[in-house]
Amino acid sequence: MKQRILIVSNRLPASAKRRGEDQWSLDISAGGLVSALLGRQGDNNEELRVTFDAYKRVNQMFADVVFQHYQEGGVIWIHDFHLMFLPKYLKDHDINMKVGWFHHSPFPSSEIYRMLPSRLELLRAVLCSDIVGFHTYDFTRHFVSACTGMLGLEGTPEGVEDHGRLTRVVAFPIGMDSDRFRQALELPEVKRHISELTQRFAGRKVILGVDRLDIIKGIPQKILAFEKFLEENPDWSDKVVLLQIAVPTRTGVPKYQKLTSQVHEIVGRINGRFGTLTAVPIHHLDQSIDFHALCALYAVSDVALITSLRDGMNLVSYEYVACQESKKGVLILSEGFNSTLTEAVESSGRRGVDQIEMELKLHPDLKGPLKALCDDERTTIIVLSGSDRSVLDDNFGDFNMWLAAEHGMF
Ligand code: UDP
Repeated sequence: MKQRILIVSNRLPASAKRRGEDQWSLDISAGGLVSALLGRQGDNNEELRVTFDAYKRVNQMFADVVFQHYQEGGVIWIHDFHLMFLPKYLKDHDINMKVGWFHHSPFPSSEIYRMLPSRLELLRAVLCSDIVGFHTYDFTRHFVSACTGMLGLEGTPEGVEDHGRLTRVVAFPIGMDSDRFRQALELPEVKRHISELTQRFAGRKVILGVDRLDIIKGIPQKILAFEKFLEENPDWSDKVVLLQIAVPTRTGVPKYQKLTSQVHEIVGRINGRFGTLTAVPIHHLDQSIDFHALCALYAVSDVALITSLRDGMNLVSYEYVACQESKKGVLILSEGFNSTLTEAVESSGRRGVDQIEMELKLHPDLKGPLKALCDDERTTIIVLSGSDRSVLDDNFGDFNMWLAAEHGMF
């Protein structure tokens, strides 16, 4: 019999909007977790407002829903920091449930983690899982050393042991479906978008940013760097355009509302300073765009500029490379997560980094103007040439928790 997997996350792949008394419409949500789970079936959703007690209560509510759907022999696959207590509640209820928990964000070093008042309770709750997954080896190391240093448990090559009970701790980089992008580029609708965008921005280099409007994504920093670039290279003000897709997220949270206003203010200032009657240097969209338009943008852009202060995997960087087979543009990643990218490729173990030309270099056409953008020493430039895209297919297509389930790691 096929093993049943219940996927539990705080976000559904679709958002429901009320359209009338009894009418709802469903749209696909934007975000890495949703992209990673496309084609899988989700089982739960709850908008979380966290204090610590409320956090635990919400985790208990998720547990109650899982109990309603669970069938003996099934696997529960829990996603992310919103649900760190769920493994404990599930195992308290039924020790035989097979439970995996995957963390989509960086797990900090213990120097930072130990500042969290609830640090021990959270670690113990997560350790109730049979297997714990992270994007990178570094994050697994941070997690294991928090468990050994703060809980006095034993770290083994396989994970963390508590009185003979092992919780496996493993790096499983998230997957992206590069075929989906490759096939989309062949669709007439995407080709039409590509030709419209190419005409619209003819004679200008296109720099693309695609992020949720989240604090960790470093969007104000990116836009300020662009302003500095325009200041230092006035000749470029009508030869370059920054297209920033900023997908609204956590719009009810005041900190995020403040971030939105801050970004609007900076964009307005820069467009006011450097715009002309017919063109502005920044096109900023506070909305998600559909998949076909996104693929076209990835394909036509000369540069993808990703300036996360911290990030988990950042699928946008992979998606850009997947769509750059013919153009061979430049991917600029901030130091905030480039180790994630390089480490993920290395950890796949199937190809060496040397085979994917992952060196610090610039596309010759862009060397001058981009140098100014990247002078800040926190910024690193990585070029993955489009021809290396097969590496994405090999290494990222299926490298996730499903493999763990298949290989009997629970
Ligand atoms: N995305 C989308 N529509 C948009 C912008 C982005 O569907 O308008 C998707 C994008 O294709 C990517 C995901 O949102 O798969 C963002 O994932 P990433 O890992 O880069 O960041 P996260 O949002 O998970 O922090």
